[in-house]
Amino acid sequence: MTEHGDAAAGERTTDVEPLGTAGADDAAQPATDAQPMTAVGADAVAEPEPPQHDVVVIGAGVAGLVVANDLARRGYDVVVLEARERTGGIVSSHELAGLALDAGAESFAVRGGAVAELAEQLGLGDDLVDPEPGGAWLRLQGRSVPLPRNSMLGIPSVPLAQDVIAVLGWRGALRAYLDRLMPVLKVGKDDRLGPLVERRMGKAVLQRLVAPISGGVYSSDARDLDVAVVAPGLNEAMTRAGSLSGGVALRIGDGARPGSAVRGIRGGMHRLTDALRGEVDRRATIHAGVVVDRVERDGAGWAVQAGERRWTTSAVVVATPGVAAAALLEGVGIDLEAAPATTVELVTLVVDGLDGAPRGSGALVAEDAGIAAKALTHATAKWAWLAEAAGGRAVLRLSYGRAGEAPATAGLDDAGAIALARRDAADILGVPVPEPVAADRVRWEQAQPSSAIGARAMQRRVREAVAAEPNLEVVGAWLAGTGLAQVVPQAREAALRIRRERFGEQVDETLDGDGADVGG
Ligand SMILES: Cc1cc2nc3c(=O)[nH]c(=O)nc-3n(C[C@H](O)[C@H](O)[C@H](O)COP(=O)(O)OP(=O)(O)OC[C@H]3O[C@@H](n4cnc5c(N)ncnc54)[C@H](O)[C@@H]3O)c2cc1C
Repeated sequence: MTEHGDAAAGERTTDVEPLGTAGADDAAQPATDAQPMTAVGADAVAEPEPPQHDVVVIGAGVAGLVVANDLARRGYDVVVLEARERTGGIVSSHELAGLALDAGAESFAVRGGAVAELAEQLGLGDDLVDPEPGGAWLRLQGRSVPLPRNSMLGIPSVPLAQDVIAVLGWRGALRAYLDRLMPVLKVGKDDRLGPLVERRMGKAVLQRLVAPISGGVYSSDARDLDVAVVAPGLNEAMTRAGSLSGGVALRIGDGARPGSAVRGIRGGMHRLTDALRGEVDRRATIHAGVVVDRVERDGAGWAVQAGERRWTTSAVVVATPGVAAAALLEGVGIDLEAAPATTVELVTLVVDGLDGAPRGSGALVAEDAGIAAKALTHATAKWAWLAEAAGGRAVLRLSYGRAGEAPATAGLDDAGAIALARRDAADILGVPVPEPVAADRVRWEQAQPSSAIGARAMQRRVREAVAAEPNLEVVGAWLAGTGLAQVVPQAREAALRIRRERFGEQVDETLDGDGADVGG
């Protein structure tokens, strides 16, 4: 028997404006602190009213909730406006077979330490967990191999290591080793990951190791990824080491392994946004089902509109995905080109009687492997707490949708998508996958990753334009970079700027401060 998760899950989207269900039905809902536009217009002619609120945050994904929490806990009057009925954005849950599972993000990169610090502040410190040591695999054409251990974004630090030879064969490994003998020359100036890898280490490293990770983790073609963003410091390390693999070895030695060192939260990543929401709810107002359609200057502050409703505020934070943010910033005179979105679908299967964990924590699929899914996460093999909660059942997450192409599941109904995921899972795992006891399909719209070439220049333009506007902040993955390790610190810095610049707080280096209520 197949059971589908909650109705909203199949339409949950990210990094673009909602698909249309969220908010629209509830737009007429009265909001206690919103004024009708006409009343404001009439008052404004007489004498400007002081803003109703200290801060309005638009969007209650992790970025918006972090800003709202940091400000509300210091006593500022904060209002959060969220288009969907649920908060958390991509960090949300769905229920299958009695399990509360992550519907989107399920882990965080440990790099920088900001996510763990936030989790600790929210009382989740004791529930931070490491994944099981099984490691991930690669599904190549006709065979599966473990992902080489010493690598960064798939680039091996030791080209002739046994696990690299297993992927590339001797010929490919020897070609990769040539990187050690080639003069370094202009490698420090390479922008694009794909061409850099191919030139230094050959086509096999690109196609079999780097491309599956680019597609699986960033939903991007390796040719479009900006080295400086996906692998900060790698260019410099390469110049120091004199080769690409040597640069990777230096970065791994530094403990910097983007995309590989991750942790999770017992019970699921959604506990982070649930806890944030709990904190924000205690001190601020969250209006769900409110699709903001305009932001404009209003006297010394800002006015935020959703249909007929309007809020005035000293400071405004745009925490929506890129496409929605671009539309809102237009009202402020900041012009942006909205990046095209990639549709990603996640199909989750809960199955009884799966034979072991033949591919460790999961597998990334090479494009030419002849399998529609781009990645599989064996969630119960990856997280011990989930295996325990699932009581012998297996939870498998398959993702679909590479950059520039619709996911193979897009044209299928739910039953068809689930059947495809089951076939792909059996193919990737190499064992039969029984009929699921429960399954769900969630669609996300992912904007061009900020790691894409050209995105950095766009981000710089946005940051400069926003910095010129007093008490306007723009946060979220489309500017900070994909992933919680980037989104959380950026949001906290924005809250800090508002505290300093708008409210004149004397805040030192620490993001947390003493937590004292300051008031606006
Ligand atoms: C399938 C998937 C899996 C992922 N897995 C991981 C992972 O394991 N680890 C990791 O670190 N990262 C992961 N990521 C990336 C990570 O989840 C995101 O980078 C991060 O959650 C983005 O947070 P955000 O607040 O910027 O955006 P969002 O979560 O998209 O939140 C934006 C919010 O704004 C709201 N909104 C939009 N328009 C309006 C409007 N007009 N008015 C009001 N509200 C509006 C939206 O409804 C949404 O709630 C994953 C992403 C995807 C798609």
